[in-house]
Amino acid sequence: MSKKNNKGCGCLSAFLAVFFVIPVVLAGIGAVVEYIEQREEQAFMTQWVAFFGPFEAAATDLTTGDYLAALSAADQALSVVLAHPELGTDYIAQTYARKAEAQIGLWQYIDAETTIQQALPYADEALHAALSRMLAEVQGRITENDTERDKQHIYHASPGIGPARTLHGKVVIAYVFVDDGHHSTWSLKSEQYVLQQLERVQRWFQARAQDYGITGLRFTKRIFHYDKDPWLRNALPSLHLDNAQTGYDIAQRAADLQGAPSVNAFLYRLIRQEAADQAILLLHVNLDKRSFAHRCWTGCPEQAEYAYLLKSPERRYWDATAYVQAHEALHLFGADDLYNLQGGRYYAPRDIMHYSARYLEASVVDSITAFGVGWVDQQPHPLPFPLQQADTKP
Ligand SMILES: [Zn+2]
Repeated sequence: MSKKNNKGCGCLSAFLAVFFVIPVVLAGIGAVVEYIEQREEQAFMTQWVAFFGPFEAAATDLTTGDYLAALSAADQALSVVLAHPELGTDYIAQTYARKAEAQIGLWQYIDAETTIQQALPYADEALHAALSRMLAEVQGRITENDTERDKQHIYHASPGIGPARTLHGKVVIAYVFVDDGHHSTWSLKSEQYVLQQLERVQRWFQARAQDYGITGLRFTKRIFHYDKDPWLRNALPSLHLDNAQTGYDIAQRAADLQGAPSVNAFLYRLIRQEAADQAILLLHVNLDKRSFAHRCWTGCPEQAEYAYLLKSPERRYWDATAYVQAHEALHLFGADDLYNLQGGRYYAPRDIMHYSARYLEASVVDSITAFGVGWVDQQPHPLPFPLQQADTKP
């Protein structure tokens, strides 16, 4: 009985051995295989740290929303993986995908479209499907951002004209806070925020100028408040991009209150006082409308060159204030818009006069804008639209 029982116990042991020991052994083998695989993967990653370093950094930067860093890391990883196809086509596709994600985060949709198209031939089925969805979304955004395309047919460059001839040397920025006590009011805090953004724009101008070998660009600010004028409260609601007269009247009155016969006379006086080379007038209104610039072109019969920044200075999810400051200022130095030129959808898409990027630092000054503001003498060639240059002869 006991033997039988023992035997029975033995059978049970054998049974248990089959069901417990084998899985344990298999798990052990699995762990060993996994360990070997991990070691091989680690060795592979160590061998290719030049790729995996930036590749992983791009993923981390995307998670934290640092899209500029992610773009730079993805580009670095791409340069390695494209030179070493032995790393595998999967990694080429995945790196392009990370680059596209960074570009989307920066609102660089034209660039993202190209990047996704570059990724597709390397993608496996699952990634291909995801990238195709991403491409459709990006192309939808491009169409949405292109509603004013075809409004203009000629690019107008006007370097060398008006109080802001070219973006060189010492520049006076006459910054006017327009405050009618009703439609547009300014607090000390909001003014400080706006001026901080202007400092960023100045540094960005200097860095972009250096890209073209231009040194010696420097700025001096003159801050004014145009307020306590009952006339202004009636005029301000009709200030609009399409109402040139009101824009001119307000700027003229602001100059008048400074004792100058015209806007440009006021700016030339500042140039003399500051021993500067150029001056621009930026009138900032705390209202959200379309900002616009009125620049001198084929002479300056009205003697008035100015820009209206119509942007409330709240901190938002993008660099709205710095963007309008930089964009409108560049108009005054002679650059034209690129977002509304027929045939120009794919031309210089990252230029600050074209599509707005999410962050100022993601925008560039392409060669056409550099020509417009006098940083290069030769107009870029070829161009997808005609360019007309203002006559600088008196
Ligand atoms: Zn513009």
